[in-house]
Amino acid sequence: MKNEHCFDIAIIGAGPSGCSAALTLRSSQCSIALFEKSEFPRNKICGDGICDRSVNTLKAINPAYFDEFIATQQPLCIRNTELTYKNHTYIVDFKNFGYTCKRRDFDNFLFSLVQRDGKNISIFQNCGIRDVEQTSAGMNLIAENGETYFAKIVLVCTGATSKIARKLTGSQYDSSKMGVAVRAYYSGVKNLTNDTLELHYKKEFFPGYLWIFPLNDGTANVGFGCRVGAETKQNDIRAVFESWLANDEQLRQRFAGATMISPLQGGLVPYNVDEFTCCGDNFCVCGDAANLIDPISGGGIGSAMVSGYFAAQVAEQCIAKNDCSPLATKEYEKMLRQRVEREMHTRYVIQKTIQNHPWTMDVLAFVGKQARLLQKIKSWYFQ
Ligand SMILES: Cc1cc2nc3c(=O)[nH]c(=O)nc-3n(C[C@H](O)[C@H](O)[C@H](O)COP(=O)(O)OP(=O)(O)OC[C@H]3O[C@@H](n4cnc5c(N)ncnc54)[C@H](O)[C@@H]3O)c2cc1C
Repeated sequence: MKNEHCFDIAIIGAGPSGCSAALTLRSSQCSIALFEKSEFPRNKICGDGICDRSVNTLKAINPAYFDEFIATQQPLCIRNTELTYKNHTYIVDFKNFGYTCKRRDFDNFLFSLVQRDGKNISIFQNCGIRDVEQTSAGMNLIAENGETYFAKIVLVCTGATSKIARKLTGSQYDSSKMGVAVRAYYSGVKNLTNDTLELHYKKEFFPGYLWIFPLNDGTANVGFGCRVGAETKQNDIRAVFESWLANDEQLRQRFAGATMISPLQGGLVPYNVDEFTCCGDNFCVCGDAANLIDPISGGGIGSAMVSGYFAAQVAEQCIAKNDCSPLATKEYEKMLRQRVEREMHTRYVIQKTIQNHPWTMDVLAFVGKQARLLQKIKSWYFQ
């Protein structure tokens, strides 16, 4: 193998988890490769909600990156969320939810930081990794174009449908712990409020919801997501989305005259909290590839960035100690469990409870009308 094909650390995938890992390693002494199957700027199907965990991780990597994000992307700052259920709207006022920013722009922003500041990072775009093979010294990476690379440790940041993660961890695709979501961009939606996210609920789809997120160019990201299987009770997910917009009296008025300016596209939302195998011999798995999406909100950018940030630190330690054994990489799992495990389990239990006892939605709505309970639960519900 050519020398320029051998690295200490290889990062596969340049989404939020992969770029966060790369940025964390931007001053490292290690030799690093970042492989991305597409070319930036690339499209990414998402609701475009960048929560506070995402921005806090960006600040942790480098506070100046956050300032640069605000200055260059001019994202909308979100202060409120409107929850609508049975024609009643509850407003949750956040001091600090985060921002909305088109994923094409947000991901391209992170990637351009890696290009600019990662002098130690060799970047391979249009270079999908087809397979990985463990060797006694590390991992061989076989690219789609036939080239082979080697790394002592690999960070798998390949997103929701990662065959590489499944191969390395032995985990199976489990549709009972998987969501599905679609979104499209609209112009001309009436009564958008620039600092407010809108979530519309129906009992049968909980924790799924229809969202309307305002963007800084006056357009809106409009989508619907739910558990895999919930949508099939009625119809496929696109049909649920379209009929909701067409049949809800209030939404129909607001979308009269609006134009869908992108195709309606969808993706998977993995939140398999029981499959916490995220590391092993010479590898760590991050972001959606490790099923780290929040089971209630469906948000995953924040956990993806945190996991990339942690995995990069552990990978650097492994290289320094010349030990990439399962025991050494387990440190990553410990950090991740400490940060996300309890909250993901709590949300999963809430999700299951309401799914199995839908009347709890009405009880919550009743309590929400009577008291300002939502204020109290907002921090652990949405963070
Ligand atoms: C419709 C929808 C709406 C959503 N809305 C939100 C939201 O509003 N807020 C939120 O926080 N989360 C949202 N999510 C979830 C969010 O998109 C993911 O959690 C997030 O993108 C995970 O980041 P990641 O880096 O793990 O993976 P990704 O963002 O998927 O990045 C993976 C990268 O790896 C590359 N890649 C894949 N395979 C290979 C390979 N073999 N070789 C090389 N490169 C490869 C891909 O091209 C991609 O660039 C939404 C998801 C969906 C489907």
